[in-house]
Amino acid sequence: MNLFNLRRPQPSLNLMAAESAPSIHDGRQSRACLMPSVERAAQVFVRGQGSWLWDSESRAYLDFTQGGAVNSLGHSPAVLIKAMADQAQSLINPGAGFYNRGMLSLAARLCDSTGSDQVHFLNTGAEANEGAIKLARKWGQLHRGGAHQIITATHSCHGRSFGAMSASGSSNFENRFEPQLPGFIHVPFNDLPALHAAVDAQTVAIMLEPVQSDAGVIPATGHYLKGVERLCRELGILLILDEVQTGMGRCGTLLAEQSYGVRADIVTLGKGLGGGVPLAAVLARGKACCLEPGELGGTHHGNALMTAAGGAVLEALLEKGFLQQVRDTGQYMREGLARLANSYAQGELRGQGLFWGLTLSDDSAQAVVKAALYEGLLISAPQADCLRFTPALCVSKGNIDEMLLRLARTFARVRTAQLQCRRI
Ligand code: PLP
Repeated sequence: MNLFNLRRPQPSLNLMAAESAPSIHDGRQSRACLMPSVERAAQVFVRGQGSWLWDSESRAYLDFTQGGAVNSLGHSPAVLIKAMADQAQSLINPGAGFYNRGMLSLAARLCDSTGSDQVHFLNTGAEANEGAIKLARKWGQLHRGGAHQIITATHSCHGRSFGAMSASGSSNFENRFEPQLPGFIHVPFNDLPALHAAVDAQTVAIMLEPVQSDAGVIPATGHYLKGVERLCRELGILLILDEVQTGMGRCGTLLAEQSYGVRADIVTLGKGLGGGVPLAAVLARGKACCLEPGELGGTHHGNALMTAAGGAVLEALLEKGFLQQVRDTGQYMREGLARLANSYAQGELRGQGLFWGLTLSDDSAQAVVKAALYEGLLISAPQADCLRFTPALCVSKGNIDEMLLRLARTFARVRTAQLQCRRI
């Protein structure tokens, strides 16, 4: 099914983004009222269903970003609508200082399914990582003579709050709003000796993404992650895994750590946990469960409406066969992307489950994203030479075929535009 079958003449690369935008005037003045905090395409989206989005001019787009991997079950899934509607009818938010049923049942189900002892709910991935840092430092005060230093990886991204940004080794941040917070050391990823050499008496934890997303979908090697776990055990420091992007089924297992056969002391979740609504969590195991009341407060933490959404998402992921299907469709997508990359002389394919990055033969990733939008396909570019694909976890093989078709047209379009530019 091609819902975006608009055949148009070849535009220039610069014109593609503007031309794919709706010509209508809705919200043009309102847009000026928004801080230009992120770059946005001109489309105004009005409806979503599964893997499809529609803009205000009724154009359909096949969504292989899903809001940056947040809509784990696609756009507006029935289970999420029902869970949230039912919850909103009865109780939205009694306040973080009180228990609610959604919070309690999601906490129990998450602990049970991830082998964790405690969980704290928050709203965003950055907040969850802040929570993990606080938890590790509290543990350092109690058990490691006040050690507080956290080692993270270069090119890592842990979020945009000051703590999370300081923890990040990313060079992707346009503005880091110096000065950063002290207490973090960045060492090269997938380099065990460098990590070992950086540990000293002030080190309390090592914090890593199992697959570095913003760096260009770069998975940790099994040897590395297992080595890091062993190092943490031997040196008596904590292992924190930032699974904000890789967790909740994205890599084909509930947590990516399972596919590596490692077990962190602290795991952070976000993005896919809420299925599209802001919900994040810090999971703690064993000795890392050391917080006391009042040490991780927040007005919306454990909000009944959001935790009801999280409960619906988790139940769907835990349904028999769901994660196997993620692995199967992930493999199908990997094979299709590899064929396409081969035909268009593109580069390497990296990832797991339904989380893939494709490196390009040049720095045209932004141009490809814009041209793909013109073809009615949403993908993202974490690096100048890398495309990222994070479809709904329930994406069909038919949707994947359609994506590959649109991506092939996109590559052809960009090639033609590049040739035209060279001729001028
Ligand atoms: N951690 C990882 C691995 C991420 O990819 C991100 C966001 O992209 C974050 C943390 C921050 O999450 P949020 O944007 O919800 O604060």
